[in-house]
Amino acid sequence: MLNSQWDRIAARLRDEVGDAAWRSWLRPVAVRSLQDGTVRLALPTRFMRDWVATHYGERLRTLWAGEEPSVRDVELVVDSARAPAAVTDAAPAALPAAAAPHRPAAAAPCAPAESDELGAQLDPRYTFRNFVVGKPNEFAHAAARRVAEASQVSFNPLFLYGGVGLGKTHLMHAIAWHIREHDPSRRVLYLSAEKFMYRFIRALRSQDTMSFKEQFRSVDVLMVDDVQFIAGKDATQEEFFHTFNALVDQGRQIVISADKSPSDLEGMEDRLRSRLNSGLVADLHATTYELRLGILESKAEQMGVPVPPKVMEFLAHKIASNVRELEGALNRVVAHSQLIGRAITLESSQEVLHDLLRASDRRITIEEIQKRVAEHFNIKLAEMGSARRSRQVARPRQVAMYLAKQLTSRSLPEIGRKFGGRDHTTVMHAVKKVEELRASDQNFSEDVDLLRRMLQG
Ligand code: ADP
Ligand code: MG
Repeated sequence: MLNSQWDRIAARLRDEVGDAAWRSWLRPVAVRSLQDGTVRLALPTRFMRDWVATHYGERLRTLWAGEEPSVRDVELVVDSARAPAAVTDAAPAALPAAAAPHRPAAAAPCAPAESDELGAQLDPRYTFRNFVVGKPNEFAHAAARRVAEASQVSFNPLFLYGGVGLGKTHLMHAIAWHIREHDPSRRVLYLSAEKFMYRFIRALRSQDTMSFKEQFRSVDVLMVDDVQFIAGKDATQEEFFHTFNALVDQGRQIVISADKSPSDLEGMEDRLRSRLNSGLVADLHATTYELRLGILESKAEQMGVPVPPKVMEFLAHKIASNVRELEGALNRVVAHSQLIGRAITLESSQEVLHDLLRASDRRITIEEIQKRVAEHFNIKLAEMGSARRSRQVARPRQVAMYLAKQLTSRSLPEIGRKFGGRDHTTVMHAVKKVEELRASDQNFSEDVDLLRRMLQG
């Protein structure tokens, strides 16, 4: 209980203070007790204790109160039993080596030993409870919940896809946490496609593919994150395909994520692609303002920090790219205010985030894109909105539409209107066409990238 609270707090602090500081100061923390509203934490030396108290004391208290409302104070104590190895090992040399583990393992409390060496660790924050549902993700969320709650396989595989930072990994971990909690006898294995490949290659090298196969084939729920990673990696795909089939045949559940839909994944074998397509495919759409605001409110509440609504509206408005960046921005604003000990205001937020905001402030307009693209392909600007369909003007027009979709937050109908009142399906077709061309024609692809860089300049 106390340890799982600390796991969540530690994970949050790690985000806030960065890996290096976390490793030096916070990983060595050991959770001792909770008594009369005071949490007691131990550090191995006085120096570390003092440092953590001055730099993170207040934050620890706030975060802990957010986890457990009865907590009013966090006390830091020095526990020399947890002194660094160099000190304790100087103890009686007469002790037989086998009796060595007389001192508590120095392992960090927030990095529990991996219970399953095949799988990756689950992030304690990525639960269904912490997932904010809105229009763009409600379908994916419902599908994930169904898989987590069902004891029978309802669709196989569940394929989640969407752009970076939209919550795919979060949902997969949430499924795993839920099953672990409610049905611990089911064996859940979560890992990235990259790790799958790494294991597979290692098994090949050590000529131990039998046990590799067995390990995978004995799980009840297999989750593989970011499968786009194995696109073009033929041997790994082949193995993955067999694993996949073996599990499906045995009625085991599979959950997959990728950055694109199965049909759009390039470098995937057709039979694998069609397998991936054969269950339920659910996508996570780009966030809306409402969802972003909802996420900010939920995160601020979890942190137990009062963030003025104006500040949240401001962030939700300005940081539209993905949830990870949004979270990062909120964490920065909060950490800053706690460090300097002042309340969060709109002005202070703008100041803290000036670098981030500058990037998203330089809004590229559709007019700018049209002008640049017309110049680049040497056609008249008026052709962007004209009805002419000859290849010579149609292609640049499609490129401009594609870039408008990529570089602005305009919707397809809005973009269509700016191109001589075209329909949104025309824009969609243009985007698809350009994507296809980019995949097949290297020169064209570089050309488009160049244009994009110039526009972002
Ligand atoms: P992806 O795997 O799609 O790249 P992640 O699952 O890693 O994205 O999500 C990025 C971050 O945004 C994570 O910290 C996650 O908790 C958070 N996040 C994404 N969507 C939501 C949501 N709907 N509610 C709460 N947090 C979210
Ligand atoms: Mg992910």
